[in-house]
Amino acid sequence: MFRGSKLRAASVAVTAGRGARAPGEPVNVPVSLSTITHGGAAEPPGYAREGTPTWAAFEEVVGALEGGTASAFSSGIAATAAALAQVPVGATVVAPSDAYAGVRTLLTEQAERGVVSVRWVDIDDTDAVLSATRGAALLWVESPTNPLLAVADVAALCAGARAMGVPTVVDNTFATPLRQRPLEAGADVVVHSATKFLSGHADALLGVTVSADASLSAALAEHRQRHGAVPGALEAWLGLRGVRTLAVRLDRAERTAGLLAQRLGNHPAVTRVRYPGLPDDPGHRRASAGLDGPGAILSFEVAGGAAAADRLCAGVRLAVHATSLGGVETTVERRSRQPDEEHVPANLVRVSVGCEDPEDLWDDLSAALEQA
Ligand SMILES: *Cc1c(COP(=O)(O)O)cnc(C)c1O
Repeated sequence: MFRGSKLRAASVAVTAGRGARAPGEPVNVPVSLSTITHGGAAEPPGYAREGTPTWAAFEEVVGALEGGTASAFSSGIAATAAALAQVPVGATVVAPSDAYAGVRTLLTEQAERGVVSVRWVDIDDTDAVLSATRGAALLWVESPTNPLLAVADVAALCAGARAMGVPTVVDNTFATPLRQRPLEAGADVVVHSATKFLSGHADALLGVTVSADASLSAALAEHRQRHGAVPGALEAWLGLRGVRTLAVRLDRAERTAGLLAQRLGNHPAVTRVRYPGLPDDPGHRRASAGLDGPGAILSFEVAGGAAAADRLCAGVRLAVHATSLGGVETTVERRSRQPDEEHVPANLVRVSVGCEDPEDLWDDLSAALEQA
């Protein structure tokens, strides 16, 4: 109903994926916990690994927002693995050298086993990416990247790859469909860690793929079923529940992120801020042209090195010292403490800005910076 309709994204997020508007029908889709359905004359009995009404509702709303057919997965990494499984064994995948650590780990493991070979690129260097893409089987794009916030020219990469017959997958976790619609920009598949902004409350592990190509969509759903990479019913419901408020959460968090980025940039204890919303950020021009907003993640580097950054993370009282991102609660983390993040500056703190009062957050961060 919503694909191609005139409703704007915030309305689609609230309205898509509901049942019939008929008297007595529930307005919200229930959590469907039955693994089996009655068989009938035309239909064989159904089994929940093939799909459930709760997934279907979540998929309908995400598909409507991204402009394609969505498949819900048990996690963002499960969605990633399904997308990577679409390339032939032994093929070459081009991927960002600063992609999300779990994606890099998965690709590295697959390369070690000879499943794929990987060409690592700086995703914001369009010419270099496209020359690496010649002869490859897949271009993997993440933009903005986690946690260095490099911004790719997604439209140019998709067009260039397509001209060489190479499909593109875009990890749209940071921007969300409210800020970036990769399928419209020419991507073949979008993947999300719906654990992050889409569900938005740090309480559900969930992933999703979206494609406007019918055979690719079918292949992704089939991979999910064969590999059992299926989401739980409650997680899919929490994802659906989260998407309903995505627009208001993201608008608020993004506004606060802009304010914090600007104040952090003027703070004597901060040596660098990375946020595409800042006019002097390397990704600013591209973000202004290609994104509908710079998002709610920023990273900054603390004077005094890793030890000072650790003291800052230990010192926050309102923000939470935790990993992950995209929730209503602001989280801070010194990223290079995680495995496989050696390329990240040791004093870099990633901030996932949540929905608290912006002035309270600034009081908290500036107090923690003073004592760091
Ligand atoms: C978290 C994350 C993932 C992995 O998703 P999970 O839901 O944790 O499996 C993939 N890409 C990006 C950009 C992420 O931030």
